[in-house]
This record gives sequence, structure tokens and C-alpha cells, in this order.
Amino acid sequence: MLCFGLALVAVVPVLLPGHPLLRALSVLLGLAPITAALTAVCRRQQLLAGDLRRSQAAFRTLAKSSVDPVVILDEQLRVTFASPALAGVLGREPGEMLGLPLEPVIHPDDRAGLFGANLQRRENGEFAVRTARVRAADGQWRLMQATVRDLRNDPDVGALVLHCRDVTSRGRGVDPELLELSLADPVTGLPNRTALSRRLAAVQRTVAASPVALVLLSIDGVAGATSRPGTEETVLRVLTSRLSRELRGEDWLARGKDGDFVVLVDGTVSDAEVVATRLVSTLGYIATPAGPLTATAGVTGLAADIDPGEALRRADLALSSACSAGVGSVHRYDDALRNAQDRRSTLAVDLAGALERGELRLAFQPVVDVVLHRTVSVEALLRWRHPELGDVSPQEFVPLAEESPLITELGRWVLREACSTVARTTDDELSVAVNVSARQVRSGQLVSDVVAALESSALPASRLIVEITESMLLDEHVAADLETLRGLGVRIAVDDFGTGWSSLAYLVGMPVDLLKMDQHFLAHVETDPQRRALCRAILQLGTTLNLPVIVEGVATPAVLALLRDMGHRFVQGYAFSRPLEAEQLAAGVWRTVPYVASAPPGVPA
Ligand code: C2E
Ligand code: MG
Ligand code: MG
Repeated sequence: MLCFGLALVAVVPVLLPGHPLLRALSVLLGLAPITAALTAVCRRQQLLAGDLRRSQAAFRTLAKSSVDPVVILDEQLRVTFASPALAGVLGREPGEMLGLPLEPVIHPDDRAGLFGANLQRRENGEFAVRTARVRAADGQWRLMQATVRDLRNDPDVGALVLHCRDVTSRGRGVDPELLELSLADPVTGLPNRTALSRRLAAVQRTVAASPVALVLLSIDGVAGATSRPGTEETVLRVLTSRLSRELRGEDWLARGKDGDFVVLVDGTVSDAEVVATRLVSTLGYIATPAGPLTATAGVTGLAADIDPGEALRRADLALSSACSAGVGSVHRYDDALRNAQDRRSTLAVDLAGALERGELRLAFQPVVDVVLHRTVSVEALLRWRHPELGDVSPQEFVPLAEESPLITELGRWVLREACSTVARTTDDELSVAVNVSARQVRSGQLVSDVVAALESSALPASRLIVEITESMLLDEHVAADLETLRGLGVRIAVDDFGTGWSSLAYLVGMPVDLLKMDQHFLAHVETDPQRRALCRAILQLGTTLNLPVIVEGVATPAVLALLRDMGHRFVQGYAFSRPLEAEQLAAGVWRTVPYVASAPPGVPA
């Protein structure tokens, strides 16, 4: 009887809470306190169920009235709700999809990105942005970008909620303010920089518990991938899809500045290096009509005391370092990179006033004719003595000057100084070679600067050589200016010859008088037969085209002997003389460099 009573007490409230039978039984069995408690629980459950129903109904009403399509998926990724706005975009009636899995209408290539590890349970309410091609009722693919909120832990919803946008024809005419507000990159649908900053800030708070690292991926070749208008966007989408496929579980892909991609890697810096290397090599397999894409990556770790801006700057520094090492490189940030960056910034600022403060000067390195045993010319080389950092190499500061219009001012000064110094020597046959930078040449002022330097120094044009690099010859305007200079009698030398895109074909018909073989050809030349073959080949090339070849960087007597035996005639390097100060040049030191001692009788020194 007691058992029966207890069973009844347990069942009746569920069915008939507060039922008179229950009350009578409770009194009868002396179980009034228990029954009262159960009744209260029951009431509360009913209230909650009512709340939940109202809350879910409210949620669905809100979703229904949303302008953008909203789709709700259950745990098995079946559609439990689709808002009416979906009909406008996909031409599918919301009711048509109810109870069906979403997967069949998603493009096979995009399924992994949409449903894979990316949609594994996330922290409550956290969003992810996913892009996928969805088949519309007319059979066409529409590119949909979905902001996915994981509300599976939310009792009001208990589902995945996808706020969708049709981004098929986006890109033009988009209100920039709206774009700014949006968290997604309109072309790829990936989180944009704003979303990235937010995410970085959120991750920074948890990074002490589990490490996270950042990969910054710079991709070349997207812009020129195809000449068809609008296809750049397609390339970016393919790229996004490929990159997404290479990522692991919780790795998070976003867009960075200047078209870079950013990955937040769930792991250490070493893990991020592995991921970055995989992404870089994957891109090499994406063929576009213009050839494969190329990528380079910078990697850094996140830490609780590094704010998101600093983390991105570090990744950027690592990326710059990787870019200078060559396409396909992956570099990790370290403090040495920061120190190098600080030094670059200091030098760039100080260089601006270096000329005025008298910290710059020219040195002159002889170029020797080993047949006639005489110095035929000197190359003017810029020198900077920094008041605190000491001597700074032009290899370090000239590129910095080239990043600003300062190079034009410096170049003009070098031309004047070089011409006037050499004009003051007693040898009226000695020529001077001046290096000019690409920016200076492209400024369009080279011809007027050269004319002004020649006029003010009274140096004959035939005694001036302008040294350019191979790539400058590609520019038609530059070639025209060089032709004008040749018309004046100035000679043009191709510096560091052999490091660019040297070929017989491009040299023919170019305004060039001399080739300066790059010093890299001399590395291990004594032991490496292939290098020797190259040295011979360049001499042969010069002979064929009637262009004298100067060999730079000849540092030892042994290399000098080897080159001389090969038939090379013009040589510049430490084997003869280091660059001389202007005073040494004026004093005629270049006449007494060692070769004079071995000059055969009768040959003018
Ligand atoms: P560059 O024009 O190829 O100059 C030759 C470089 O080789 C010079 O370095 C010279 O000191 C160095 N060199 C000469 N003989 C030897 C040798 O036997 N062994 C070795 N290891 N090196 C030798 P520097 O003076 O440091 O200049 C480096 C580069 O900076 C120059 O390469 C040139 O590209 C640039 N530069 C120098 N002065 C100027 C300038 O006035 N204007 C511009 N735009 N660039 C300049
Ligand atoms: Mg040079
Ligand atoms: Mg050179």
C-alpha cells in the first residue's frame, strides 16, 4: 500500500499537479510535506516550460522578421528553422528544407570548411564566419556568408544559428561604413581585421592557459592571376577554401591588412611554423593562368603581456624578414628582428639630416686595366659616419634612402661631388662611375642632374659612367633617358650584372656600354669549375656584344691571376685597392697602387 501510495505520489503530480486525489492520498499516508515540495517543483517546471516555449517562439519570430536569411540547425545539422528571407535569396521555400540535412545543398568543396572541425562545439554563443557556395532552387550556386553562432548550450535555442548573407555579387558599390561595421571580409567571407583584433584581444586573455600563435601569410600573384575582370575574387575564394582545408581543429583563418591572410594557430610557435610551412607549400600547387601563387610567412607567439597590435607588428616583422630571405620562406619573430627594425628606424630618421651635418662623403675605388696596367676609372662609393653608430654601410642605408624622395637629393649630391672631385685630379683621362638608384632614375630628373653636375664641374661627359642595375632597363622611360645621356657622351654600365634576368636577347639594342660582373660569381671560383665557366661565359657575352666587362670584388692575387688567365682585362677589388678617400685621390694615390710595380716597361702607369 505504501509502495502504491509512493508510486502514485510520484506519478500524479507530473500528470495532475494539485489534484484532489493526491491531496487526499497525501494526508492519508502522512506524506504531506513531500507532496507539497513535489508540487512546487512541478509548478516551477511548468512555468519554465512555458517561459521556454515563449522564449523560443520570440526567438523564432525575431529570426523570421530578419532581413537576412536565418537558418537554425540541430545537433545533426538538420534544418529546424529557415526564415522567409531565404526564399528571396535561394528561391527555396523555408518549409521545403525543414527536417532535411543542409549538406546536400552545399558545394562539395565547401562542406569541410562549413561542417568540419570548425563547427565543433564552441564556447557559448561564440561566432564563426564561414563562406560556402549554396545551390539555389534554379540550380545556380550562390556564395553565402554565414555568421554561425553556437547556441547549442543556450536553453532558449539549443541549436546552431546561421545568419546568412548573399555575397555572390559583392565587392562594388558596398557602403564603406557598413563594410567597416561588418566583421567579415566581403570577398572571402573570412573574419576581417576588426574581427581579428577582437579575437586577438579575447585570445590574449586565455593564452596563459593554452598557447596560441599567429601566422601572417603574404600571397603574391593574386592580382595578376588572370586578366579577366572580377576573377581575382574567384582566386581569393579558391585560396580561402584551400587554406581552410589545410588548417587543423581550432586554427582560425582571417584576413589581415594589404590582402594578407592571418591564422591563429591553436598551439606553440613551433606548431605555427609547421602550419605556416604547410600553407606556403600548398599555395605553390594552386595554378592560375599566370602561374602558381607564391607565399611567404611570418610567425610569432601570443602572450598575456603582448597586446594584439604588438603581436601583429611582430608577425609583420617576421614576415618582412621572411620576404627578404626569399619567396616561400617562413620566419619566426625574435628580438633581434625588433633590434634590427629599431636600428633601421633610427637610421632612416638620422639619414634625412646627414648630408646637412656633413656626415656623408665619397670614397673612390680604382678600376684597373690589367693589360695596360693603369687605373682607367674610379667608382664613387657613398660613405656615412653616424655620430653614435659609427660607419654605416651603403648596403644598409642606401635602401633606406630609396624608400623616400631623399634618394633623389642624395643622388644629385653624389653626382656633383663625384664629378667635381675627379675633375680636380691631374689625370685628364681618369673617369668616374656613379651608382644611381632606381627611384632616382625614375624620378625623371636624372638627365638634368647629370647635366648640372657636368656643367658645374667642367668634367667632360666622356669621363662620366652611370651605373644602373639590370631591372632598370625594363622601364621604357628609363631606357629613353639613358639614351639621352649616351647622346651627351656619358657611358652606361650595368652593375651587378648576372644577378637579374640576364640574357643575350635583352642586352641587344639596349643603351649600355659596359658590364660589371657581380662579385658573387667569384665565390669559391678557385675551386668551383662551374663558377669559372660562368666567369668565362660572361666575358664571352661581353665580347660578342662588344661590351667591356669589369670584374668586381677581386680580393686576392690568386683570383686576379685566374681571371687574367681567362682573358679578363678590367678588374676592381681589394687585390688592387680598397676605396680611397677623396684626399688620397687628389694626392694621386691611385697611381701608386701595387700593379704599377709590376707594370712592364714602357706602359704608362
Ligand atoms: P656596388 O656598386 O656593386 O659597389 C661595389 C661594392 O663592392 C662596394 O661596396 C665596394 O666597397 C665593394 N668591394 C670592392 N672591392 C671588393 C672586394 O675585393 N671584396 C669585397 N668583399 N667587396 C669589395 P660598398 O661601398 O659597401 O657599396 C655597396 C653598394 O652600395 C654598392 O654596390 C652600391 O650598390 C651601393 N652604393 C654605394 N654608393 C652608392 C651611391 O652613391 N648611390 C647609390 N645609389 N648606391 C650606392
Ligand atoms: Mg656599383
Ligand atoms: Mg656591383
